[in-house]
Amino acid sequence: MRPAPEGARLLLATHNAHKVGELRAILAPLLPGLDAGAVLGAKDVGAPEPVEDGVTFAENALIKARALVAATGLPAVADDSGLCVDVLGGAPGVFSARWCGRHGDDRANLELLLAQVADVPARHRGAHFACAAALVTPSGLEVVEEGTMPGTLLTAPRGDGGFGYDPILRPVGETRSAAELSPAEKNAISHRGKAFAALAPHVVAALTA
Ligand code: IMP
Repeated sequence: MRPAPEGARLLLATHNAHKVGELRAILAPLLPGLDAGAVLGAKDVGAPEPVEDGVTFAENALIKARALVAATGLPAVADDSGLCVDVLGGAPGVFSARWCGRHGDDRANLELLLAQVADVPARHRGAHFACAAALVTPSGLEVVEEGTMPGTLLTAPRGDGGFGYDPILRPVGETRSAAELSPAEKNAISHRGKAFAALAPHVVAALTA
């Protein structure tokens, strides 16, 4: 663990560089006055990755944020997210990143899921992305906010943007898959965008207290 650099005020408890970028873009307009350099990813401070053994998105988000606060003494924000498919009773859910049996193989995860629901007709292909965003501070404050992005599962991947299951979810009100939206379009309607928009006032209050 390296000490947090001078000027760091808020840590994002993710090791995923794509997510650090997405979270910075979501938080920047919500937190005027907090420059990008003040928001660091867990990798920037060499923080270890905790075991995410919670069974809800909220539990896992809190596990990640608490670990980073314990390691750095700075306020930390974490999220946990996944895809919940109606006909699968909410699965893959917290197992989204390792649905195929390996962690982080996005292509294998979505191909397995598509195969599992191959015979399910369009009217029963409802699904949503869900995100829990947590703020934990050194003084013991813990806040969790949640957001969802409802949609329909496609039958084949479409688009090159985003990550994870984006190519196979068409958000409600859209003709495109989530992977065909620009980052700004996705952030405006995404589960993560909504969860962080709800969390932002708490972050501002914690940083200005
Ligand atoms: P985590 O929050 O990093 O644990 O993400 C869990 C998994 O959920 C990711 O690896 C993706 O497979 C999936 N996921 C979460 N958010 C999204 C999203 O916005 N688009 C596509 N897949 C997502």
